[in-house]
Amino acid sequence: MIGIMAAMHEELNRIVAMLSDVSEEKVGHKVVYLGSLNNKKVVVVFSGWGKVAAATTSTMLIERYSISQIIFTGVAGGIQAHLNIGDIVIGKSFVQHDMDCAGVLGIKRFEIPLLSLTEIPSSEVLQEKSEQAANDYLASDLASDVEAKELENLNIIQPKIYSGLIASGDQFISSEDKLQDLRQALPDLLAVEMEGAAVAQVAYEYDLPFIVIRIISDKANDDSLIDFPRFIEKVASHFTAGIIKRLV
Ligand code: SAH
Repeated sequence: MIGIMAAMHEELNRIVAMLSDVSEEKVGHKVVYLGSLNNKKVVVVFSGWGKVAAATTSTMLIERYSISQIIFTGVAGGIQAHLNIGDIVIGKSFVQHDMDCAGVLGIKRFEIPLLSLTEIPSSEVLQEKSEQAANDYLASDLASDVEAKELENLNIIQPKIYSGLIASGDQFISSEDKLQDLRQALPDLLAVEMEGAAVAQVAYEYDLPFIVIRIISDKANDDSLIDFPRFIEKVASHFTAGIIKRLV
């Protein structure tokens, strides 16, 4: 069984719509969808936003459904100046940018206390498969899937695929000050979001392969995004569903 988590309802709905033999279960306050995709058993659930939501949801999927891998999709803020809205970021490693016990017992900023880890890598096999799936989606389905005017409105000309470091924390980053602090502290950082590093820590604890695939929705700065719900519905959810369809 493959666990698929999405951080937005629109993305989740589009993924659930691709499943066959779907059934639903309620676990706590969450609705979990069970079904098949490409003849593989999958379990799909909305994680909620933030590290606690992502960690509890990942743990629930592992403990209750004995999943063998976790795929997480959502949107993220681009940190490096060359990243544009609509670009795809595949997480190679993950850091919790709000983890800071610096000075206690010689721990460094961002280090996870007692695990002696700062960055947690995702599965290399899933990284490669995700890159292929994303390339294939952009080359074959993008034009028929997303309306040209939606792409034009956002100036999405030819989305690019990047892989690298993603930072997660329980904050929506939308100020120049915070952006500069993250750039300085983590020079390789590609994107910021609120869940990936929590999924990474749970997957690490359970020795499970995982991957996080993000679509850039904003530049984590003072220019808050466009029309967020519209971007998710009309653009990002198509990207993530198209990639997941090819990845599973
Ligand atoms: N403000 C938007 C939605 C917030 S997005 C709205 O009005 O609908 C929050 C989600 O997007 C989280 O799941 C997080 O992982 C991701 N995200 C996107 N851009 C982000 C940023 N700049 N900082 C932190 N999280 C971001």
